[in-house]
Amino acid sequence: MKEKSSVDIFDENYSKIKKNIKTAAESIGKKYEDITLLAATKTVDVDTINHAIKSGIEYIGENRVQEFLSKREGYAPCHKHFIGHLQTNKVKDIVPYVELIHSVDSLHLAKEISKVSLKLGKITDILLEVNIGREESKSGFTPEEAEEKLVEISKLEGIRVRGLMAIPPICENESDNIRYFAEMKKLFVDIGAQKIDNSSMEILSMGMSDDYVAAIKNGATMIRLGTALFGRRNYTNN
Ligand SMILES: *Cc1c(COP(=O)(O)O)cnc(C)c1O
Repeated sequence: MKEKSSVDIFDENYSKIKKNIKTAAESIGKKYEDITLLAATKTVDVDTINHAIKSGIEYIGENRVQEFLSKREGYAPCHKHFIGHLQTNKVKDIVPYVELIHSVDSLHLAKEISKVSLKLGKITDILLEVNIGREESKSGFTPEEAEEKLVEISKLEGIRVRGLMAIPPICENESDNIRYFAEMKKLFVDIGAQKIDNSSMEILSMGMSDDYVAAIKNGATMIRLGTALFGRRNYTNN
């Protein structure tokens, strides 16, 4: 049998995912349109990405600086986000080209984004990454410090905080997973209620291929899907 092309895999997956998003959104009184689907495009070739964009994907996210830079000029028009860990010395390579950085995990990084944005005369939208599982191996602010850091970061010029992002721990059972999403939602709502100047809590970016339905049901406004859309990646350098 002939192997399926990456385009066929995408088409099949995308139509299923749209249905799942709609069902999950409607189960909590939201609409399909309330959920932003971001395609996590690491390791996916530009032709397949552009097919996805032509098919209706409006948001894409890359998580490696070099890969983003090498693919950047090939993307069809779309909203480009950066979703991976960002080193301070790479900020100048990313800020000119992206609309939203999901993964701001330190004050130091926020200051650099501010500096570079000011130089370019632009305002960069960012999300604060929260280490909701308090994992040693992961970056991000602890839930306890998130609000205090947000107050400091919001004072920086050239930056606008639009919400929070999280990558919860890999969970054995669904109830643990849901607990992390629910904690994120609570933090998002609590911080939003503080009405901190120059920031807003509009975007809650959480949920990946294995758990996006649970994420939507627990308050995600943006989900980031790679495998579920494009199929398994060949892990060569990941
Ligand atoms: C790769 C990646 C995703 C998507 O992961 P899948 O499990 O393939 O859906 C989401 N967020 C970030 C930050 C990623 O690096």
